Amino acid sequence: MVKSMEPAKGEGIRRLFSIQVFTAITLMTFVYSVTVFVFLFDTFGPDGSVLHTVLFTFFGGMSFISFIAAVLIDPGRVPDSFYTEIEDPVIQKSKKYCDRCLTHKPSRAHHCRVCKRCILKMDHHCGWINNCVGYRNYKPFIIFVLYATISLIYSLVIFVLNLNQIDRSFDRSQTILYVSFCSIDVLLIIILGTLLGWHIYLISRNLTTIEYRGEVRAIWLAKKSGEKYKHPYNVGVWKNITMVLGSSMLKWFWPLAVDHLKDGTEFSIYHD
Ligand SMILES: [Zn+2]
Ligand SMILES: [Zn+2]
Repeated sequence: MVKSMEPAKGEGIRRLFSIQVFTAITLMTFVYSVTVFVFLFDTFGPDGSVLHTVLFTFFGGMSFISFIAAVLIDPGRVPDSFYTEIEDPVIQKSKKYCDRCLTHKPSRAHHCRVCKRCILKMDHHCGWINNCVGYRNYKPFIIFVLYATISLIYSLVIFVLNLNQIDRSFDRSQTILYVSFCSIDVLLIIILGTLLGWHIYLISRNLTTIEYRGEVRAIWLAKKSGEKYKHPYNVGVWKNITMVLGSSMLKWFWPLAVDHLKDGTEFSIYHD
């Protein structure tokens, strides 16, 4: 079997053409346009709205860039060197062997049934980005969730300020716009805010969503035999964070600063 760690030409671009990606971009465009062109201008007037427009466009723009990066960047292919046919039945039955790719699997890699291949440090397959969240695009993914949550909270504050100022009755179309905007904004804040909190917890412990599920069982098994379970990749909060965001804090919030990533097949392990 010949496989390459290089993604096929145009594969990233093709991921953009999905209903869920289109829906996500439509929602972003809706929240941005209504906030800037309806509420901001109405609330702060032509002069006062400039600063908020610049700030809100910054957060909205960063959300968009991070989102597109999470779609386009390959989540992490297993390097060619790992693709060796293994005939040893013991290895074939072990967790380090993928019986679908029929090859060796690096630590923390998992086979994704949607992508039909093994993904390095796989977190989960996300339909909204039509891509797996793995070793290479985890940073843009989480930075997108961060900027999107900030943008949504920012737009909700502007919306509430606008609502407090209004001293007029609404016509039918305005009512529909206000109610739909508020519902979408609040719903997205709840979903993305929860996702952000969850991934901050996972990053602080150097866990992926898949590993968290496995850990629940491992803790239960260890408890049964009177032992204490320790996640092997948890090497301390600071190091765990820098493994995802990079060691330079200046680059933490730029989704494309991923030069700290290695080949994604080996990870530091905790030692007593
Ligand atoms: Zn596989
Ligand atoms: Zn996948």
